[in-house]
Amino acid sequence: MDWFPSPSRYDAAPFRRCGLSGLDLPPISLGLWHNFGETDVFATARAVVRRAFDRGVTHFDLANNYGTPYGSAERNFGEILRRDFQSHRDELVITTKAGWDMWPGPYGQGGSRKYLLASLDQSLRRMGLDYVDIFYSHRPTPDVPLEETIGALVHAYRQGKALYVGISSYDVAGTLKAAEILQREGVPLLVHQPVYSLLNREIENGLLDALEKIGAGCVVFSPLAQGLLTDKYLSGVPDESRAAKSRYLDKSVITPTLLTVVRELNEIARTRGQSLAQMAIAWTLRDSRVTSSIAGARTVAQLDETLDALKNATFSPEELARIEQSLSA
Ligand code: NDP
Repeated sequence: MDWFPSPSRYDAAPFRRCGLSGLDLPPISLGLWHNFGETDVFATARAVVRRAFDRGVTHFDLANNYGTPYGSAERNFGEILRRDFQSHRDELVITTKAGWDMWPGPYGQGGSRKYLLASLDQSLRRMGLDYVDIFYSHRPTPDVPLEETIGALVHAYRQGKALYVGISSYDVAGTLKAAEILQREGVPLLVHQPVYSLLNREIENGLLDALEKIGAGCVVFSPLAQGLLTDKYLSGVPDESRAAKSRYLDKSVITPTLLTVVRELNEIARTRGQSLAQMAIAWTLRDSRVTSSIAGARTVAQLDETLDALKNATFSPEELARIEQSLSA
């Protein structure tokens, strides 16, 4: 049966401008790292993507190696696009990245022009697209000249295979240098994608300031610290959770000290009338220089809960102070 997205999908969607560009992004975006691969249930993945779009999420974040096996999240997303979104491509911001390991041998990972451009072509084929909206260098690769890595982004941009370019997980110095190389080429750095959550605040040490100076946006990933910033681990590790199933979240990080912090944050969230997941996402958006927070969702219910974070996204000075106190305890 044909699916038609909700006609009211933009009514309550408060978009944010990405740096000094002309591109607006939703404050909460959907990431397809986990839950959208071949080993996941396609019908659920499809329902999550539909629901996200129905609620004003226009930005879908992918990478070449998302899903198990690698590439399968892009393949599944391509199938969802083909079945449900053919007449909505121009309403979507679709990203991909290359940098981490993807295929065997020296040309299947890293920052070379050889790898990045081949990978982008493969990503486009898997998703059935002519272009992505944003192509990222997924990680810094100090053993490759930055001019070469950034040059590959410029090439993709000039070919029209990427409308914008971005970098992910670069430090302040690398970011400034990447922006400078791009500026020389007349290509703006649209966005940086760093990790950011209540449990990882590294971007507050200069990166946000640098991005503001450059005029680039900041789209942060793992705002729930892969699920640690929810109430799910407070009484054990549920079978279906990421800590139980994924090699990317080791159970050993769930220490009594962490649980004490999470319990306190959970209490603060309750007094705000929201869940910890909602408070954690809202907190990442309290600085307007954060353009969007990319969350993951395994189910439609998780996605709905996350998106409802926007119902209470402001913090009083007292709440912020209580949060700081919990984190430093
Ligand atoms: P989150 O920190 O948002 O974690 C998502 C996980 O948290 C879900 O898969 C689910 O795990 C759990 N969860 C989500 N919502 C709820 C809820 N309401 N209640 C309870 N549990 C919930 O983000 P991710 O780590 O998934 O990263 C998000 C995206 O960021 C990725 O998909 C990717 O697009 C991007 N990313 C980019 C990286 C980069 O290097 N540029 C690196 C990592 C991510 P569970 O299965 O346990 O229920």
